[in-house]
Amino acid sequence: MRVLLVEDDRMIGEAVRHVLKDAAYAVDWVRDGQDALLTIGSQSYDVVLLDLGLPKKDGFEVLRAIRSRHDQVPVLVITARDALEDRVRGLDGGADDYVLKPFAMAELLARMRAVLRRKGGSSGPVLSNGVLTLDPATHEVTAAGVTSSLSGREFSLLQALLIRPGAILSRSELEERIYGWGEEVESNAVEFLIHSLRKKLGSEAIKNVRGVGWMVPKEQ
Ligand code: CA
Repeated sequence: MRVLLVEDDRMIGEAVRHVLKDAAYAVDWVRDGQDALLTIGSQSYDVVLLDLGLPKKDGFEVLRAIRSRHDQVPVLVITARDALEDRVRGLDGGADDYVLKPFAMAELLARMRAVLRRKGGSSGPVLSNGVLTLDPATHEVTAAGVTSSLSGREFSLLQALLIRPGAILSRSELEERIYGWGEEVESNAVEFLIHSLRKKLGSEAIKNVRGVGWMVPKEQ
């Protein structure tokens, strides 16, 4: 999952980025509204975390511009605890949810999972193709009754595939979902992760479509 963090406060930004990376999100961080819009126009994100008080363009302007492009990316607005009016304005302006500053990181992560779940059209907490069941809250996967823990990147890769069983993702599409800006991507990183996932889940769990990419089968 790739997240755009839009936050001008350095301490909050560093802390949130750190927590999101630990939770296996690929994170890009921009510090003003103008950069946010440029970035959203050039890269696809699974979710945007948007502070409202920002230099150059404020969060409301950014939100308005995103929605006027008919971009349906989920947006979580970050607002001050006492700013009821901002929360209402944010939600009415097309935000999907909000978090209150100062926020508990566990709550931020839970709200992100909830928003991503709704975006995926599922109301249940787990992702599944009928064979594999992945729990985004614990990073555990169950296959044939056996539950395994996944590393952050194994989780990111499998999550990207399980969101749309049957859809083929190329190497670069997978890399985009796993690595944020400034993170070095080793040339065979995707193959390496697929290999270790197959060791845990069985060789049929992830299929290679030669020259195109990888998929998890869509079970009936
Ligand atoms: Ca701010």
